[in-house]
Amino acid sequence: MSVLDVRGLTRSFGAVRALAGVDLTIADGEVLAVLGPSGCGKTTLLRTIAGFMPGDAGEVILGDRPVLVEGRSKVATRHRNVGYVPQEGALFPHLDVAANITFGLDRAERRKADIGELLELLGLDPTLARRSPHELSGGQQQRVAVARALARKPSLLLLDEPFSSLDASLREATGRAVVRAVRATGAAALLVTHDQNEALSLADVVAVMSAGRVVQVGAPLEVYARPATPFVASFVGSGSVLPATITGGVAVSVIGSFPVSGQADGDVGLFVRPEQVRLDEAGEVEATVAGFDFYGHDACLHLSVGDHEVLCRVRGDRVPGEGQRVRISVDGAATVFERAT
Ligand code: ATP
Repeated sequence: MSVLDVRGLTRSFGAVRALAGVDLTIADGEVLAVLGPSGCGKTTLLRTIAGFMPGDAGEVILGDRPVLVEGRSKVATRHRNVGYVPQEGALFPHLDVAANITFGLDRAERRKADIGELLELLGLDPTLARRSPHELSGGQQQRVAVARALARKPSLLLLDEPFSSLDASLREATGRAVVRAVRATGAAALLVTHDQNEALSLADVVAVMSAGRVVQVGAPLEVYARPATPFVASFVGSGSVLPATITGGVAVSVIGSFPVSGQADGDVGLFVRPEQVRLDEAGEVEATVAGFDFYGHDACLHLSVGDHEVLCRVRGDRVPGEGQRVRISVDGAATVFERAT
């Protein structure tokens, strides 16, 4: 059964269409990441599901309960059984960790809430229960905010870029701990993020949003390996789009020929990931190193093939010099888009 069904949800602010007909489903116990660039409508979607604002049209169904019908809220936030964790600053500064976690619970729920267990679930030392929020690191504060949301035993946890204020290494560790805790409680989660690594590494399902619409939904590998549009291809990772022509099931481009199925003859855009492109002395395609981005463990070469740029990932200690002539080959299948871009 699905925990959440969003159907045709729209919402405008004046002339800005923040949500332009969003359809989205989350299954029981699933962690779904909504991934998209700034301003694409992620927070508006989350806030509408939480009940903080109405829509203009569309439905939100939580479990079997319609909570928003024809854009109008039918069930108040506190009765929706959803947890909400904002970017930062969710904790009450004048209450200690334990009081933050149990805030708003009735007496019976408070008795049942095992604060130590919740803290441990989030990878936190139970002795933190008596500390004030200002005595915690940013990552610990966010974990406590998640513990507080989970104490209410929500069927769905809404996470609004909860790790974005943390530095990179802390972000990864916190994200992993939070998803582990969510899974342990059996809740489903909707994680809003603009960070592709976060979405791909933490979620079971990734929904990519652009300009108020969900443009692709799929498992992380599916979205990465088979992007539905040039936008998804370039937003979820990097790569090169090259003009190609399909003739009789083969797409011919400057980096070689690729079999394609189910595509009519004609001009298309051919997309390959940098890790598919290999420096290969036996390769049939000649290229010139125009520049590179060095990341330590690896580097991304910007190669010129004729008038086109092709990205190529290499080990950090195997970066050829700028201007060097190299030969390349391409591994695996190429993705084809309807039109060259
Ligand atoms: P970010 O990643 O930057 O938080 P987002 O994807 O969450 O962006 P939203 O915050 O949902 O995007 O905003 C979507 C669009 O709606 C933006 O153009 C934004 O300026 C606009 N918008 C959001 N809330 C309001 C509001 N209360 N009043 C007016 N415009 C708004």
